[in-house]
Amino acid sequence: MNKPSITRRQTLSVMAGAFLWPMGAAGTRGLHIESRPLFGSTAEVMIRHASIGATSADPMRRVVKELERLNRDWNAWKPGVLVELNQALLQGRSGAVAPDLLALIRLARTLEARSGGLFNAGIGGLVSAWGFHADVLRPDAGLVPGEPVPWRGRAPSLSRLRVEAGGRLSSTDPRVQLDLGAIAKGWAIDRALDELARQGQPHAVVNLGGNLAVQGDAGGRPWQIGVRDPLGGGVVATVSTRSREAVVTSGSYERYRQIAGRRVSHIVDPRSGCPAEGLASVTVLHPSAAVADAAATALMVAGPRQWPFVAARMGVRQVLALHADGRGTMTSAMASRLRLRESRWTSQLKVIA
Ligand code: AMP
Ligand code: MG
Repeated sequence: MNKPSITRRQTLSVMAGAFLWPMGAAGTRGLHIESRPLFGSTAEVMIRHASIGATSADPMRRVVKELERLNRDWNAWKPGVLVELNQALLQGRSGAVAPDLLALIRLARTLEARSGGLFNAGIGGLVSAWGFHADVLRPDAGLVPGEPVPWRGRAPSLSRLRVEAGGRLSSTDPRVQLDLGAIAKGWAIDRALDELARQGQPHAVVNLGGNLAVQGDAGGRPWQIGVRDPLGGGVVATVSTRSREAVVTSGSYERYRQIAGRRVSHIVDPRSGCPAEGLASVTVLHPSAAVADAAATALMVAGPRQWPFVAARMGVRQVLALHADGRGTMTSAMASRLRLRESRWTSQLKVIA
């Protein structure tokens, strides 16, 4: 069992988008915490015992094991289930697909359509060409801005996938290469919370590298979540959560290649084939972490002016967009949820939707 102190836990979590705000001794009483390096960052599962004498050891073990499996199976560049499936699609063959992966692919296809193609889990070939299918990103590995991209305006789409008899998956477009990086963490968080609830643990937080969701409460009061400043170490705001809720952030400040003094983001615009620009981070609040995850990425692609239209199409109402130029925009539904902390953003935030 691993029980980091609040200070260390906060320091760990501040490396990424959202984190559990320190709750003081009363709030941490009975909090069982496990952390692991997973999904390219730190994964934390926190369970507050439902009642005195209850044990969360078994549900915790089960959930952590499942997160480890998804981290292994759904990686787009390490040998495993997804890489094998992509290999089959590339060669015009069908590939085996487990029911949970198929369900995720179906959700990704729906969200691709709702986002007008800005969220697209079929552009793995393009993400790889830009050098982002690697644990360590290098300036010299991958396309550089200005170079011709593999395709422009004709992104492969998940609508080209077919489920065959026996549950195998094929594609009528061999360019479809699955990259679930923009939705898998959200999906895994949702499944982890579902499983904990099934196991009699209704009070929990699952944080995968700054993308988190909560259920239940922190001992009679809501969980408090901090949203990190993407341009520095501070905190932009805190949120008091509602019973089951995700706080998911997509950003251009953590995974990027530094080329000639310029940050080249890991989020790629399927329309242009080039990395998205204009936003430093987008934070979405939504009951589903998977929907919030896909939407946050789509809104990063949409950029500072277009994001409200894409958010409306995707049915997400609570959005905070922090622009690369230091300005910020948000929906009124988000403004009513945030308690702003004193930061460089305080006087820069405008409600625009
Ligand atoms: P996120 O951190 O959730 O925004 O996901 C970013 C990851 O999703 C990248 O590292 C890529 O693996 C993948 N990705 C990049 N651009 C897109 C896009 N437009 N749609 C879907 N996935 C993408
Ligand atoms: Mg995402």
